[in-house]
Amino acid sequence: MNIQLDYNNITLQAISPSWLPDHVRASVLRLDLLHPEVSGNKWFKLRYNLEEASAQGKTRIFTFGGAYSNHIAATAAACRLAGIACTGVIRGERPAVLSHTLRDASLRGMELHFISREAYRHKNETDWNTLYPDAYIVPEGGNNALGAKGCEEILSLVNDSSDDSSFTHIACAVGTGTTLAGLINSAAHQQEIVGYVVLKSAAYLEQEIQSLLHAAPLPHWQLRHEHHGGGYAKVTPALTAFIRQFYEETHIPLDIVYTGKLLMGFRQDVLDGVYPTGSNVLLIHTGGLQGNPVDGQVS
Ligand SMILES: *Cc1c(COP(=O)(O)O)cnc(C)c1O
Repeated sequence: MNIQLDYNNITLQAISPSWLPDHVRASVLRLDLLHPEVSGNKWFKLRYNLEEASAQGKTRIFTFGGAYSNHIAATAAACRLAGIACTGVIRGERPAVLSHTLRDASLRGMELHFISREAYRHKNETDWNTLYPDAYIVPEGGNNALGAKGCEEILSLVNDSSDDSSFTHIACAVGTGTTLAGLINSAAHQQEIVGYVVLKSAAYLEQEIQSLLHAAPLPHWQLRHEHHGGGYAKVTPALTAFIRQFYEETHIPLDIVYTGKLLMGFRQDVLDGVYPTGSNVLLIHTGGLQGNPVDGQVS
């Protein structure tokens, strides 16, 4: 199985929004431009999992997610490109009208398997491979060692286009932390990796990320836990106003669940003096735009 996406679509964009002070520089790595359907970090988390499925002779990818999951969207699209069947186990009963994410996934050939929220909570206790022996199982969000391994390639995209060692910090939104782990594993030791957590009360993340890291020495990293904006997928008027203004000033669209909170958290930290004078921050745009409300409005 070999799908090659064109990494030349990914750009590095220096930004200077009105709130960024002179003593801090910032650029955005536009993984959202990777592919119209398989956007952002999810491709990097999937690629070695797809290769491993093929190496094991599996004929189906089997994975999990909610009704607006970027991972479900990316898996459906990537499996169609790779020509392998896929099943998405979806949290909650089948609704009368499918979300646009699930409708698109279904149109791309993903078989949707709805289970109750209660059953979903216990999904990792179910032996799915007994039920689907030909399936290769990718955990929710692509959160496994092969997922992190794929994310170790993200920073090489910066290498190709600029002098990446001049970035003092690398900042990324954190859901499961798989992407951040890949960044930590591949960053230069003098860089600092900063994860903006989009979930509330996610103190377990430090340990989950640790479990995906290579042996030391690794660059310094930290999680910022105060920028979830009320919790996972919670949207406030302040967030939508921020996203709209950011788009006007940079022409970079942000999603409401991850990258909007990354940039808004970054702004807060910059204003609070968390980034010292001379900082040059690389912000990873992990995609996720498919999850925004369908009319494209975030208000
Ligand atoms: C899934 C996702 C993340 C979180 O990635 P993790 O590896 O789970 O931390 C960040 N941004 C976007 C747009 C995503 O879809």
